[in-house]
Amino acid sequence: MKSNNDVIIVGGGIIGLACAHYLIEKNVSVRIIEQEVVGSGASHGNCGLLYFSDVIPLCEPGAVRREIFKAMMGKSSLYIKPTLDIKLIHWLLKFAAHCNATQMKAASKAKNDILRYSLDLFETFFLEHTIECDFEKKGLLLLFKDKKSFEGYESTNTFLQNFGFGAKALEKDEAQKLEPAIHKDIAGAWYDQSIWHLRPEMLVDAWKKLLIKKGLMIEEKCKMTGFEIDQGKIKSVYTVKGQYKADAFVLATGAWTPDMEKQLDLRIPVHPGKGYSITMERPDQSCEIPCYLYEKNIVATPWKTGYRLGGTMEFSGFTDELNAKRLSRLITGAKEYLNTSVRHPILEQWSGLRPMTYDDLPIIDRSPFQNNLFIATGHGMLGLTLATGTGKAVCDMICNGNARIDLAPFSMDRF
Ligand SMILES: Cc1cc2nc3c(=O)[nH]c(=O)nc-3n(C[C@H](O)[C@H](O)[C@H](O)COP(=O)(O)OP(=O)(O)OC[C@H]3O[C@@H](n4cnc5c(N)ncnc54)[C@H](O)[C@@H]3O)c2cc1C
Repeated sequence: MKSNNDVIIVGGGIIGLACAHYLIEKNVSVRIIEQEVVGSGASHGNCGLLYFSDVIPLCEPGAVRREIFKAMMGKSSLYIKPTLDIKLIHWLLKFAAHCNATQMKAASKAKNDILRYSLDLFETFFLEHTIECDFEKKGLLLLFKDKKSFEGYESTNTFLQNFGFGAKALEKDEAQKLEPAIHKDIAGAWYDQSIWHLRPEMLVDAWKKLLIKKGLMIEEKCKMTGFEIDQGKIKSVYTVKGQYKADAFVLATGAWTPDMEKQLDLRIPVHPGKGYSITMERPDQSCEIPCYLYEKNIVATPWKTGYRLGGTMEFSGFTDELNAKRLSRLITGAKEYLNTSVRHPILEQWSGLRPMTYDDLPIIDRSPFQNNLFIATGHGMLGLTLATGTGKAVCDMICNGNARIDLAPFSMDRF
């Protein structure tokens, strides 16, 4: 049996690190157990947006019809591998059932609460710590090729204004004046200034170093294989390097979390939603403001130290295979919106697995059956953005019994 800790966090992604951060601030002794190396999962090569206004869930009314239509036209960034996987089929049906106005309203409110909370916490975090991660507050330009979609975004924007967010419509000329890298063929843009960006792998690296200095212990190449459970409590975790004991445990294992469902007797309907990115040095006339290429669902993120194109959503199980066609679509798609969208050589081609729930809300809860186990997963497209809110909520549940925000919408009861 390895040494005793107050808290063991299984999973060294951005969510695990954020949980560790707030616990260590409270003088809790923390150890992260990671099967690979810290930050090697979805938290590595994502687009780096702190997308605080992303209030609307993926399962909005009309989402299924729209994606089927786009898929028929060969224009969808979504791919679902034909499958007999009953769990995935169930997940997809549940997703479809959630595409209605009532669910959207409730999910938007819940998302807004945790997005706002995360925003405030990130603000404090960057004021209190020097973290080298190319962090900037430049907003996001949503670029539209299609005039109808550009004009149609007005209703989305009105919805977002109810939450105190909202973008400014820019005609093509105005958009090009603001961002000369934009292609002459776009129809228009919406400029959302509430969005920040950073380089995620730099954040993970710098955050890890900061926490190690403050006492965080990390076991890498240390896959957890199970729990020792006794009378409704977790006593220790079994890993390939031995057994680790603690008073409380956090499961922050991203897309892999359902591996533990059976042993914990829990329903954790999280599926891996694979995304891709391509990273390079900045093109000579790269955009200065991050751009969301609306019809293609591609993000172009410029940093001082580099440039990334990212996107796509593939439901094809736990594979890290790099699909050349999907990667090349990032480049061809970006060329339609940006003048210089690529620079050779390509430094990294990457895929990552987003932990997706069918209602597009994270799971942040205490296990109903093991009262010293806390689950923090299912952050889908927003794990980076929601890291601080999630980490603080988990810390407060462990240290005070309750979080400062309402976690009911993120509870496991809903499954
Ligand atoms: C292409 C792409 C672009 C994205 N862009 C954005 C963006 O701009 N903004 C945003 O907010 N979000 C974005 N996301 C989503 C974001 O990356 C994820 O939501 C987030 O990284 C999830 O963090 P996590 O810590 O839960 O998971 P991960 O980072 O995957 O971490 C989970 C960790 O658990 C470890 N683990 C799993 N099982 C075990 C085990 N049994 N034992 C030990 N360790 C284990 C894994 O190795 C992994 O390191 C994007 C995702 C993709 C794919």
